[in-house]
Amino acid sequence: MPEVGTTIFTVMSQLAQQYNAVNLGQGFPDYEMSGELIELVNKAMVDGMNQYVHMAGLLTLREKLAEKIFNLYGNKVHAGTDITITPGGTYAIFTALTAILQKGDEVIVFEPAYDSYIPNIEINGAVPVLIQLEFPNYSIPWNEVRSKITNRTRAIIINSPHNPTGSVLREEDVEQLRNTVEGTNIFVISDEVYEHLIFDDLPHLSMLRYADLMERSFVCFSFGKTYDCTGWKLGYCVAAPQWMVEFRKVHQFNCFSCNSPAQVGIAAYLNNKEAYLNLGKKVQQKRDFFAGLMEQTAFTALPSHGSYFQCYGYSAYSKLGDREFALKLLKTCGVVTIPVSAFYKNGKDDKVIRFCFAKKEETLQMAVHKLLDLDVGMVD
Ligand code: PMP
Ligand code: GLN
Repeated sequence: MPEVGTTIFTVMSQLAQQYNAVNLGQGFPDYEMSGELIELVNKAMVDGMNQYVHMAGLLTLREKLAEKIFNLYGNKVHAGTDITITPGGTYAIFTALTAILQKGDEVIVFEPAYDSYIPNIEINGAVPVLIQLEFPNYSIPWNEVRSKITNRTRAIIINSPHNPTGSVLREEDVEQLRNTVEGTNIFVISDEVYEHLIFDDLPHLSMLRYADLMERSFVCFSFGKTYDCTGWKLGYCVAAPQWMVEFRKVHQFNCFSCNSPAQVGIAAYLNNKEAYLNLGKKVQQKRDFFAGLMEQTAFTALPSHGSYFQCYGYSAYSKLGDREFALKLLKTCGVVTIPVSAFYKNGKDDKVIRFCFAKKEETLQMAVHKLLDLDVGMVD
């Protein structure tokens, strides 16, 4: 992979450490996860649940997930055949792509795109077909999507709530997606790791809600996001049995089976529905708290309806490109952000940076306090 360097998240987190800066770059909470879940996993280890579980994941965990999926999305998926536990959401996406792609296949990817998608496609010898979301609302240009479909189009990657922009799929988008793929063999890879991180009372339009779209979808989730434990690297994929068989062929020789005690603990913790149902409200408060603080600055907010992230324009401060501006912000104020051009293969620069607001209030306060050191028009 000669063109591939180190992911922007690692680059920026390393700089945050080096400069002892406030890290609003990489997406991870700095507040504590549930003590109850820690206890449950600890208990699983003490109880001796320390050997391999089934290749597809602990069956009771898959059963609990099937129950959750039915309650939330009205879809009766089968724990035995339709769900596989994975070491994270990224791995689930990679495995789904690897299961379906042949050399020369095309995959439609919307940009800004989460950084793993394009390398995941290319390493399989396939070709990413890039479509830019419409700035500044980051909506999907469906006419362009239809114009880029060829007989090599094998899949389309959807991500809602969206990283880095916080945009979410609407009913109109689902309808457009349905019309676009109907009568084709195109798969949908649906990255739904921010399933519960959706705000403003908007519903999460999971592919799991739509029987026709589910027949062609691999839907990918992350417990790291749902339970404030990104470092646990555990997630799952849901797909129709005939596709899940292929997914497991790849999975069994790459990971085989995931961390057992975490699966035991999460299976028990899934009884606590409030833990995931209240997450959107909790993180929305953080978004609003951060947005309130940011009103003291001259940054201009773009809309965010989900995820951990809010994007901001900085034209009142600077004419620099976003990478240079993010570095300047680090060195001048000691605050780390992510330049959104990093999510475009051609480095398209709308002069927007991404802030992660999944932080303690004092962290957000400290960051914004530091940003106030920035003089309008003085940075360059
Ligand atoms: N997709 C998106 C859009 C993400 O932001 C993340 C977060 N890291 C992931 C996938 C991967 O999650 P995980 O850490 O479970 O691999
Ligand atoms: N998803 C997180 C983000 O967008 C980071 C994950 C990672 O570092 N790979 O910041």
